[in-house]
Amino acid sequence: MEGITCSGWQEIYGQEKAISLLRAGLRRGDIPHALLFTGPSGVGKFGTALLFAAAALCTSGEPDGCASCRKVAAGVHPDLHVLEPEGFSIKVEAVRKLEAELSGKAVESAAKAVIIDEADAMTHEAANAFLKTLEEPTPNTYIVLVCESKENLLPTVVSRCREVRFTALGQRDLERFLVEREGLQEEEARKMARRSGGVFGRALLWARRPELAAHWRRGVGLAASLRRLSLLEALEIVEECRGDWEKMEAKGGGGELEAYTRALDKRAAEQLRKRWEGRKAQEMRKARRRAAHDLLDGMASFYRDIMLLNLIEEEGLGVEDEVLFNPERRKELEREALHVGAERARACLGILHEAGKALEANVDEKLLLHGLILQLRKAT
Ligand SMILES: [Zn+2]
Repeated sequence: MEGITCSGWQEIYGQEKAISLLRAGLRRGDIPHALLFTGPSGVGKFGTALLFAAAALCTSGEPDGCASCRKVAAGVHPDLHVLEPEGFSIKVEAVRKLEAELSGKAVESAAKAVIIDEADAMTHEAANAFLKTLEEPTPNTYIVLVCESKENLLPTVVSRCREVRFTALGQRDLERFLVEREGLQEEEARKMARRSGGVFGRALLWARRPELAAHWRRGVGLAASLRRLSLLEALEIVEECRGDWEKMEAKGGGGELEAYTRALDKRAAEQLRKRWEGRKAQEMRKARRRAAHDLLDGMASFYRDIMLLNLIEEEGLGVEDEVLFNPERRKELEREALHVGAERARACLGILHEAGKALEANVDEKLLLHGLILQLRKAT
């Protein structure tokens, strides 16, 4: 649930089993020192890991919104250590640095908490180095590894952790959540649930920060106008998008960090500042990657609608608005469907799918997007 900070268990939706397990363990004081949170992307694993860390570091044993818990939520608690991929992997140097940090005493709390997000991004070397931390834990240290599936981790790492499973949420759960908790109208909730691809964290981000859905909508607009635009115009739109991604700012300013570090000694404050800056930079990279994926997804939704219109109409049936991602563009879709056809729409989806994979593989973004526009224009 990156990008959204939770202040209490009630904010994690649909994961009652995982949460009651954690809370019971915290109450009894018998939490295994290493936990492994698994489950599909965007269902609240990271948010729960942060809440768990807050509870473990708090004197009340619950994320209760006290000063310590707020520091955890803001990522500036000196006894919380978050390890995330830098670029596309978690390298052995990062694990060694973490080990060094853990060897010291806790600064403010009686315990230390470690969250390794996207733990499957650890290189083989990093995972092996991390085994040492798992085998010889420093006292009062809680470790949470977060990843989609344990299959992608070294079995020796998995066997030293207690797995906590997070369940996939259905379209209906997501809709209900958006209506009940986020106050959306039913129609709007249904649309958002579909457009987010059922990814909970993404729908939540869009509901709370509507400006983020703009990247997706821009993708729809780009796909809709692609055949009418000159190549130069299309590339200009892509460059405009990239310019906007550049300007996106991560939440939270340095001011709040200053307030938190004031009470620490110089060395600890410096360490915390470095860690915080690293996290912010990482968050920015993630937000940017998410925006690029949203653009591609928005485009794909347009071609999916075209394919659907063609296929259903071939059967001589009418197409209900409800099955379309973009019912408000129905006229445009019908016009484009006549030109593009189901086969070519399918080819475009394939091209977009490949582009999405390439984005994950750290290909040069500009080259990738420009190449994508050329390919799509050729295909339509
Ligand atoms: Zn607290």
